[in-house]
Amino acid sequence: MRYEVPCLIRLQNVSKTYNNGAKALIDVTLKIKNGEFVFLVGPSGAGKSTLTKLLYREEIPNRGQVILDGKNVVRMRPRDVPYLRRKSGMVFQDFRLLPRKTVAENVSFALEVGGASNKEIKRAVPAVLSMVGLAKKADVFPEHLSGGEQQRVCIARAIVNNPVLLIADEPTGNLDPETSEGIIRLLKDISTTGRAVIVATHNYTIIKRFPARTIKCENGKLVEVKDDEEIDLEIL
Ligand code: ADP
Repeated sequence: MRYEVPCLIRLQNVSKTYNNGAKALIDVTLKIKNGEFVFLVGPSGAGKSTLTKLLYREEIPNRGQVILDGKNVVRMRPRDVPYLRRKSGMVFQDFRLLPRKTVAENVSFALEVGGASNKEIKRAVPAVLSMVGLAKKADVFPEHLSGGEQQRVCIARAIVNNPVLLIADEPTGNLDPETSEGIIRLLKDISTTGRAVIVATHNYTIIKRFPARTIKCENGKLVEVKDDEEIDLEIL
């Protein structure tokens, strides 16, 4: 019998129109499996942010179903939303680290907010810092780190709660090409630990360098980019 990797994300006929009439997503259907690494591309205004916001219920669709890890996100009770949000980690282009906290404190803060015990924090923080290659920088403040290192802290903070999904929004936007490759390699490694990783990017070089499932968002519709299909530079 063949083992089927379970579906982590399922969007079924999802439409989202904002109150001002902007049609951000139109009848979108999408499946992403556990452990999948996916690039999300498309021009500004195409609906990428709306898509990710639906996954942690910052927005609710007008039509269709959003299922994350077996839970119906749309019908979820408000008190269950914090549990849903802990299933996802976010990585940002501008890192968003707390400047007055050290590397270790930035990461442990994410655990404290989630109600972790001191024992759990002492175990998890060094483990995750060594996973992102920053074991030696635990006591350093963000301003003394390079951009790539700051992004690694951001990734450590995003995965320390053991989320099933990692969403990275233009994670290499502020980094040089070599550092960018290191970050994408790390994100790919993270996907091999069973988490799904979605990387929204405009970085054509990175997509070429790291072949992966690529979904193009265009005028509120999603299209799978085939392996042999060139990505239209204009849509990036
Ligand atoms: P992207 O992330 O690809 O730039 P968005 O999902 O942010 O695209 O936007 C998709 C469309 O929805 C755009 O037309 C945008 O102007 C509109 N939009 C996004 N957020 C809002 C909002 N909060 N209120 C009204 N319109 C919005």
